[in-house]
Amino acid sequence: MITIASESIELKTQVLGMRIFREDESQSSRYLSKHFWIKKILGISFRYPNLKVEMFRFVDVLPSLRSSREITEHFILYLLNKDTEIPNWIRPFLRFLLGIFPISFLFGVGIRAVVLRTSGNFIAGKDFKEAAKRLKKLRKKDSVFTLDILGESALSEKEANVYQKQYLRTIENLDSFAGSETTNYGACPFVNVSVKCSSLYSQISSLAKEESAAVLKEKLRPILRLAKSRNYFLNLDAEQYDYKEILISLALEIFSEPEFSDYPHFGIVIQTYLKDSRKELIQILEYSKTRKIPITVRLVKGAYWEYEVIRAKEKGWEIPVFENKAETDLNYEECAKILLDSYPRILSAFASHNIRSLSAILTYAESKGISKRDFEIQMLYGMGDSYKVVLKKMGYRIREYTPLGDILPGMAYLVRRLLENTSNQGFLQNFLSGRMDYSHLLKNPKESISNAELL
Ligand SMILES: Cc1cc2nc3c(=O)[nH]c(=O)nc-3n(C[C@H](O)[C@H](O)[C@H](O)COP(=O)(O)OP(=O)(O)OC[C@H]3O[C@@H](n4cnc5c(N)ncnc54)[C@H](O)[C@@H]3O)c2cc1C
Repeated sequence: MITIASESIELKTQVLGMRIFREDESQSSRYLSKHFWIKKILGISFRYPNLKVEMFRFVDVLPSLRSSREITEHFILYLLNKDTEIPNWIRPFLRFLLGIFPISFLFGVGIRAVVLRTSGNFIAGKDFKEAAKRLKKLRKKDSVFTLDILGESALSEKEANVYQKQYLRTIENLDSFAGSETTNYGACPFVNVSVKCSSLYSQISSLAKEESAAVLKEKLRPILRLAKSRNYFLNLDAEQYDYKEILISLALEIFSEPEFSDYPHFGIVIQTYLKDSRKELIQILEYSKTRKIPITVRLVKGAYWEYEVIRAKEKGWEIPVFENKAETDLNYEECAKILLDSYPRILSAFASHNIRSLSAILTYAESKGISKRDFEIQMLYGMGDSYKVVLKKMGYRIREYTPLGDILPGMAYLVRRLLENTSNQGFLQNFLSGRMDYSHLLKNPKESISNAELL
């Protein structure tokens, strides 16, 4: 009986996935649409790995280059070196051309403008004021946002205090977006802010868990208080494995404090690449039973895969993440089911661009009779835009993870994350480079695991 039910869900998953891909095709093939060109450019860069790496490196150093001449020189150095896939016969010609003034000058100016314009597709603005127009546009397109303040972990307490002020200032400025949408479980605020705890305390360390949690609570309380006073949603993002225990226990403790325990708009993140992620999910499930009101869980696969593998190997520790992508994908689907089974005590946000993962979740939610507006699909600002259009048309709620920060340094930060973590490119890379057909992209991760076991 159970087998028949799961077979029928798998069949429906395949049908839904195909439908999303087909509708996405008609969206993104509209020749002049932004989606079409972004996909084409990303597709080409993913097809030539060395060129892509050098392009990202170039973008990484761009903010530190002062003159147009320097920009052209670095372009030549990075992109016209012998390792990139640019044909040998073009390289000397381009070097010669770009050495001539004023071509070298104009080229530098042009490249800076192109990178700035492209970066604007992924970063909403330098600060709230600059981003406001874009956020209003998202609202008009029936999307909502979660704001993320771009930046590295804080290296000093001075820097950490600047980040804390930035969060407070950003929340204070969000008045014009106040409001909520109605769902079956009640009102869900439009405004949502994602906080990275490592930016709030420079000494956060797994060797001093209690102290780290205590300091972070001090830093977080004013932010939570402000969010609560405005009826905004506040999410604590997941970071490296080292901080996981600190962040989960900190979240569950601070959300239980008397002034916050009756507030319904707090969220935490579970990373399904972690082998012990289900243990955390069960912990949150138990915790949710003690609350009168729901808590939200954003389900992600995890953004630090390569870092975790390299670090564990270096230290001789057990690797905390799955080493086979299909296992992460399968765990994502299984954890999503646990979350949906816990509705409405736990509200869910599924953050993924992977259409197989999303189709499996959407099909399961439908089989449970959970309304399309009673959970969120979250995607990154500027990524997978044509999917967002398709899913919105189908009636789903989409929230975009929207970075705020200086455009050029912000873009450099984003590409550094991509360079460090090429595993993040998995699904998009396969799709953009056109290397796989839809049925392959929709393959049940269970099948990939059994095939790997047979080998
Ligand atoms: C709205 C939003 C919010 C996010 N918030 C967070 C957050 O708070 N914390 C966080 O850590 N990440 C966060 N992420 C990033 C997320 O964890 C993923 O890195 C990213 O979304 C890619 O996953 P995918 O399902 O879109 O793509 P896919 O290509 O299907 O999956 C890629 C992911 O698979 C995993 N993976 C890759 N290779 C392997 C392998 N060999 N073995 C096992 N697993 C592997 C990695 O987790 C990788 O990121 C967020 C993403 C979004 C869209």
